[in-house]
Amino acid sequence: MSARVLVVDDVIANVKLLEARLTAEYFEVVTAMNGPEALEVCARGQCDIVLLDVMMPGMDGFEVCRRIKANPRTAYLPVIMITALDQASDRVAGLDAGADDFLTKPVGDIALVTRVKSLVRLKRLTDELMMRAATSSEFGLDDAMDAASLAGEGGRVLLVEDQPATIDRIRRTLADTHTIDCETDPQEALFRAAEGDYDLAIVSLGLDRIDGLRLCSQIRSLDRTRLLPILVIVGPDDNPRLLRGLDLGINDYLMRPVDPNELRARVRTQVRRKRFSDRLRDNMQMTMEMAITDGLTGLHNRRYLERHLATLVLQAVARGKPLSLLVLDIDYFKTINDTYGHAAGDDVLREFSRRLRKAVRGIDLACRLDGEEFVIAMPDTDAALALLVGERLRQKMAGEPFQVADSPTGLAVTVSIGVSSLAGGEDTPKALLKRADEALYEAKRNGRNRVVSTAS
Ligand code: GH3
Ligand code: MG
Ligand code: MG
Repeated sequence: MSARVLVVDDVIANVKLLEARLTAEYFEVVTAMNGPEALEVCARGQCDIVLLDVMMPGMDGFEVCRRIKANPRTAYLPVIMITALDQASDRVAGLDAGADDFLTKPVGDIALVTRVKSLVRLKRLTDELMMRAATSSEFGLDDAMDAASLAGEGGRVLLVEDQPATIDRIRRTLADTHTIDCETDPQEALFRAAEGDYDLAIVSLGLDRIDGLRLCSQIRSLDRTRLLPILVIVGPDDNPRLLRGLDLGINDYLMRPVDPNELRARVRTQVRRKRFSDRLRDNMQMTMEMAITDGLTGLHNRRYLERHLATLVLQAVARGKPLSLLVLDIDYFKTINDTYGHAAGDDVLREFSRRLRKAVRGIDLACRLDGEEFVIAMPDTDAALALLVGERLRQKMAGEPFQVADSPTGLAVTVSIGVSSLAGGEDTPKALLKRADEALYEAKRNGRNRVVSTAS
């Protein structure tokens, strides 16, 4: 994971040390020796994450953090405060200043890399969401996300732990902002993780009867829980298991005894990340669907037909199976618009599509080309059968009035249909569509409300 880390410290030896370790992990490093210099780097958008020393002459780390978080252009830049060992008050002050996480001096390698990676992932998602928000109708993250998700609050947390004191401490620390379900049995925990809609699993690696790492591995391999963030709780002497956990893909960890401020910060980061990535996935799904779906009728659009028809033709030729096309055009549709208005016309198009969808098989491909013109591609269907399907569709439309506003009795709507079928291995999607179009025009010329096949 390549990212640019800004290291801020007034002691050059500290800067050099962190720089060397991060460079060894293939991060890019920029440095600053004081607050104002750091703020300038941030404002110019030259880093993805900030490692910030608390104790600096002039502007201290808390103030730098406050200013980063107060500037809308840098508010989503993750900040890790580097505090002196056992300075709980520094952590509280850091959280108040808006810091995303902490590291204590001397900074250990595992902690450094884990914390930076975890927050860089969050930054990536944030950037992606902001970019999408900027190109859609939304104006920024505030529009794209609800306030609780933005703040990493209201998380649904599954806690797998059997030590009553830790359970109690975690509950007390998190209960005001998150919902906590506690589970001691790993099998049951996996089941609940798969069934429940959780934002985070906190798994103790010091469970009495079971191997917490196995549970982490199972969560990572099940399709339904693969993306669930995992925070593990480890003892101070348990580095080997922590490293194995990190290999298995856990997202972050907490050292016993669990520090409430660290707990709060890490849960917040993971909940935000989960919400952001959920949002991005929904967003992507929607973009993908929008690209191939007609907005008015929910049928596939022309773009999809063009791509898919080529595949259907290739498949039919390869398997020696028939393939037929229907091209449908509503009769005198312009008159409906002119008489009852455009909205009534839209109602007719929607009802027409609904009847189409109900009448065709699952493997048939129904599309709206443009306006009031539709195509149905039917695999494994020869010309004679296609003609029958066309006739059935014609009757479905003509047989029952279409309900629209401003017409108590409904409208009589008819359709003309052209049919074509695949003729040997030389045939192409384009030729197939053209023949169906010619048949359609013949149906129109012969008086409309009829089905014409090129083969007939
Ligand atoms: P024909 O029987 O020859 O097919 O006549 P027609 O009136 O159905 O055909 P024409 O192509 O002359 O008119 C199609 C009309 O469809 C014109 C256009 O304004 C209207 N139209 C196209 N797209 C939409 C739409 O999304 N909604 C509505 N309400 N009307 C549309
Ligand atoms: Mg028409
Ligand atoms: Mg038309």
